[in-house]
Amino acid sequence: MAKVVKFGGSSLASAEQFQKVGDIIRADKHRRFVVPSAPGKRFSGDTKVTDMLYACYDLAAAGKSFSKELKAIKARYDEIIEGLMLELSLEEEFKTIEKNFKAKMGRDYAASRGEYLNGIVMAKYLGYEFIDAATVIFFDEKGEFDAEKTNAILSHRLTECGLAVVPGFYGAKPDGTVKTFSRGGSDVTGSIVAKAVRADVYENWTDVSGFMIADPRIIDSPESIDVITYKELRELSYMGASVLHEDAIFPVRQEGIPINIRNTNKPDDKGTWIVGSTCQKSKYVITGIAGKKGFCSVYIEKDMMNSEIGFGRKVLQAFEDQGISFEHVPSGIDTMTVFVHQDEFMNKEQQVVAGIHRLAKPDVIEIEADIALIAVVGRGMKSTRGTAGRIFSALAHNRINVKMIDQGSSEQNIIIGVADSDFETAIKAIYDIFVTTKL
Ligand code: ASP
Repeated sequence: MAKVVKFGGSSLASAEQFQKVGDIIRADKHRRFVVPSAPGKRFSGDTKVTDMLYACYDLAAAGKSFSKELKAIKARYDEIIEGLMLELSLEEEFKTIEKNFKAKMGRDYAASRGEYLNGIVMAKYLGYEFIDAATVIFFDEKGEFDAEKTNAILSHRLTECGLAVVPGFYGAKPDGTVKTFSRGGSDVTGSIVAKAVRADVYENWTDVSGFMIADPRIIDSPESIDVITYKELRELSYMGASVLHEDAIFPVRQEGIPINIRNTNKPDDKGTWIVGSTCQKSKYVITGIAGKKGFCSVYIEKDMMNSEIGFGRKVLQAFEDQGISFEHVPSGIDTMTVFVHQDEFMNKEQQVVAGIHRLAKPDVIEIEADIALIAVVGRGMKSTRGTAGRIFSALAHNRINVKMIDQGSSEQNIIIGVADSDFETAIKAIYDIFVTTKL
């Protein structure tokens, strides 16, 4: 049996946190493959080592002095090493880093050092083998993750060694240049490692006891989710629920490996299980609610649109030509609306409108900004009548105007568009109707 354990930055921010992690790993001999993040914040207002590295490298790239900043980063590691009473010096590593910063090795290289160094410390602390991710995680020339090559080399390497630490967040391109995933990408590394060793479970240790039904910044102490499917999670994380990087699902999903989100500070909590499919009913009809503000709608009207073959394609072409991806496209008889991210769309708005005029010759185009999209997700919705009815009556009772409704064909999600200013009230209303009143 093999478990892959990934620890987030807050779980590794200090020697004290490292000790908790050590206790967790030693409590179960199956926890054989460890993926650490870089040290995160020790207290609110603190700076993550990854952010310190980016800032430090930006000085180096601008040809300015960065020795003070690099020293502050080294001090973060030395504090951990001393607190754990390890016989380890990172002196040589930091000399190399300084040299490479001067040689302008790139921002990805710089950021990756956070995980790299933490991996060295972790391996020493546990007595596990350290494997530099640049030798086992691969990207292609274009910077796309190379799943096939990685899986072949990584699984071979890991079955050889048995107990290993693989730092998260980065890998290498064919020419050896270091490349990182997007922020929070150590979650992705954990998933890739779990796939490579065909782990029984991928434990993702963080500072919360799993996923909440709704964002705790909006709902006061929301209930947590015991079991969620990959599909549900994908919908929720796409719509802004954070805890796990949205790409972390794919590698394990292909292998049917469950993910267990756990809390380093409360190791006895069961956390959330993310699984392929389950016969376990969720406690409520809905599994979770998530949403994002800042969308724009582009409303297009044209007489007889419905009988004009290719109209939709021409409209979407205008967005594609400007490199803008769309979120939703609800349509009526002679109308269609395209929802896009406002910040992406703003600068190219006029080019897109001109493109639609040129390609599709519509009668009317109207743009509306500041729209929020809310996803209500749940495998229980498929078999329950009246879910949509309950959502919309809750919104109506709270005097919220619904601008868009889109029920995904999976019947597992309903997406609702409201004004940005109604966002929080709408989430509260939906949470109340399903969870607080337990309908
Ligand atoms: N340290 C990186 C970040 O802050 C990656 C990670 O923690 O997953 O984004």
